[in-house]
Amino acid sequence: MTFSEILKFSIDLLAVFLLALGIKGLSKVRSARDANRLAAIAMSLAVVGVLLDSLGSSGISFNAWIWIIAGSLVGTLLGAVVARRVAMTAMPETVALFNGCGGMSSLLVALAVAIFPLSNSNGELSSVLVERISIVISVFVGSITFTGSMVAMAKLQGWLPTPAWMQSKVRHFINIALGVVSLISISSLVSGDERGLLLLIVGSALLGIGVTLPIGGADMPVVISLLNSYSGVAAAAAGFVVGSQLLIVAGAMVGAAGLILTQVMCNGMNRSLISVLFGGALGSITAEGLSGSAEYINITSCSVEECALTLEAAERVVIVPGYGLAVAQAQHTLREVTRALEANGVEVSYAIHPVAGRMPGHMNVLLAEADVPYDQLKEMDIVNPEFPATDVVLVLGANDVVNPQAKNDPSSPLYGMPVLDVQEARTVFVVKRGMSAGYSGIKNDLFDLANTSMVFGDAKKVLGDLLVELKELGISGKN
Ligand code: NDP
Repeated sequence: MTFSEILKFSIDLLAVFLLALGIKGLSKVRSARDANRLAAIAMSLAVVGVLLDSLGSSGISFNAWIWIIAGSLVGTLLGAVVARRVAMTAMPETVALFNGCGGMSSLLVALAVAIFPLSNSNGELSSVLVERISIVISVFVGSITFTGSMVAMAKLQGWLPTPAWMQSKVRHFINIALGVVSLISISSLVSGDERGLLLLIVGSALLGIGVTLPIGGADMPVVISLLNSYSGVAAAAAGFVVGSQLLIVAGAMVGAAGLILTQVMCNGMNRSLISVLFGGALGSITAEGLSGSAEYINITSCSVEECALTLEAAERVVIVPGYGLAVAQAQHTLREVTRALEANGVEVSYAIHPVAGRMPGHMNVLLAEADVPYDQLKEMDIVNPEFPATDVVLVLGANDVVNPQAKNDPSSPLYGMPVLDVQEARTVFVVKRGMSAGYSGIKNDLFDLANTSMVFGDAKKVLGDLLVELKELGISGKN
């Protein structure tokens, strides 16, 4: 082994180690930030490793170096700008965009090797076959990931409605036909006939559109997580194509992590992956759920002042954050309110539903921004048995995740989804702007219950007013 080979091997090994540590650290709120940094360092090391390897190779021209450097600079700049500017509520769209870029990169790498074969293949039948199969997988999965992710992003942004015919059974026939076309071109490519390449790209790109377009709103983040897993598979296959162990390991880790996350999200919504992928648009279920059930019969609303008085008298308060809290960006005002309550001797905790908000961990990140102590965040299984001993629950911009229909009404589209049993508490205040439904589009039976009072208004405004009221009652977090 030469010195440069040893150096490259060491860098790759370190990068893989840091990436594995990074992915492991992402599973805990406390370590997530550092873990993300570790994974970013791992990826930078990987790039350095590839560049060092290329330095030793005589095959790279000056022009190619200009492309590599310019591409890296443009990519870094775009990534940094997007990461800084994107709103937390738009994170699923951003992840979709990045997944799409990953899929496209793997597709392009495989395509380049298919058109300009590398000289390192030793000509043995087995290695030629491995290369061909890797190219085919990379092109197939990469194309699906790219077009599927672009469609997912456009749907989440509200740019792309689902055409009516795409919600009918016709779509299954179209997708099967596209799948068959892709399989035929795959078999011709593996047997050495290059003419199938264009057909495979077109077939799999259309398949990506065909399988993603009919999927409905609430299921979309699950699909994005699955596409994330696909982008890992495509990258791993691209690793085989160019003979990079690092890319193989990194791709496999992303593929596995994406699959685990997909499963966690499906469990959180009580949906099977098959029903997400083939069940079609949730929109149709939503329409059924809405029909005839949208009238509320027993709504009690109350003023911020009444809410403040009840909170002041409480010993134990549980906050339930939801999507609306993120929209209102009310996390800092909320923290001021909870500081005031804590200063008055109230025990405060936060109930975190696994799919509250629009992506896993959304609420954890939101509350971490406002320096809420991690040990006050309680997961659903821990907090649910505690609700009967809770004086006040403050539901802030959450809806579906506190809907008792999920447990009580077998005809509800939400039935079976694990929810927070907030109705078990003595008093429940729900802060939202009006009576609009949550993401699933269905009525919430919680709002009709006798121990529930609605406090109408934007979450930030209501919390700001609450803070003023608490101060007037002599309660303040700042002594
Ligand atoms: P929901 O989307 O069910 O409800 C949010 C509520 O917030 C709405 O009813 C809205 O009512 C209210 N709201 C909006 N803006 C404001 C504001 N500025 N101030 C106060 N209230 C506001 O949110 P949940 O968090 O309860 O549930 C998340 C949903 O997303 C679930 O259906 C879940 O399955 C789905 N989902 C989540 C995923 C995840 O990973 N987190 C993934 C896939 C789906 P109003 O307009 O009246 O104010």
